[in-house]
Amino acid sequence: MYILLMGPPGAGKGTQAAKLVDRFSIPHISTGDMFRAAVKEGTPLGLKAKEFMDAGQLVPDSVTIGIVKERLAKADCQTGFILDGFPRTLEQAAALDSSLNELGIELERVVNITAPDDELVRRITGRRICKGCSATYHVVLNAPKVSGTCDKCGAELYQRADDQEATVAKRLEVYQDQTEPLITYYRDKGLYSEINGLQPIDKVLDDVVNSLRGDRA
Ligand code: ADP
Ligand code: ADP
Ligand code: ZN
Repeated sequence: MYILLMGPPGAGKGTQAAKLVDRFSIPHISTGDMFRAAVKEGTPLGLKAKEFMDAGQLVPDSVTIGIVKERLAKADCQTGFILDGFPRTLEQAAALDSSLNELGIELERVVNITAPDDELVRRITGRRICKGCSATYHVVLNAPKVSGTCDKCGAELYQRADDQEATVAKRLEVYQDQTEPLITYYRDKGLYSEINGLQPIDKVLDDVVNSLRGDRA
């Protein structure tokens, strides 16, 4: 099962990806998570990515495409993947097509999770991430049982540096300018499904799973 999850920042891609991983036992490939891991480790990639992430801008295509190509070549992608947050530009989409071609992989569905901007801002500014296992919570909408602590592994939760209100507006603008054109790109390929992300998490999951079966939501 080869799935691509699209959607503006805060729509719920990571939340849904975690549930799809449980259900289908395929790897979750998130370029955002890969960049954050590199930042945490202080690698050259991390140092480069951080300046763009903190400014709410996209990391340059040349960098991003390289790390995804390497990741897709790993053995665990032979049976499927959930790509989350990549591609985000037309150039990335074209590079993905050629990589998948080389690997003999066909994308099955591109799922775009949508929500209005005011809800995206509310979700992003209240988002909290686990330092231990990267599980995602929201202080109000998806709160952990014990405030500030991960339900799954007990580690402390933190707020992403780029989840401040000031950076969020820039990220939404970048999404509209650079990523929304992909909607037409994948619609033309007959792969595109749009899901209303303004529903409860489990209802969104049902719609995503139904879209994979071919009944378009
Ligand atoms: P993305 O990966 O698209 O940026 P996340 O999955 O990290 O989005 O979700 C953003 C925030 O919104 C998180 O705090 C998450 O807990 C919360 N969230 C995700 N889906 C929903 C939903 N359907 N309803 C309410 N809150 C949600
Ligand atoms: P969100 O789901 O909230 O938009 P991500 O975790 O997917 O956040 O991405 C965080 C940041 O990492 C982005 O704002 C961008 O700087 C960088 N990034 C992630 N994926 C890509 C990509 N495909 N191309 C360029 N930059 C990316
Ligand atoms: Zn955890």
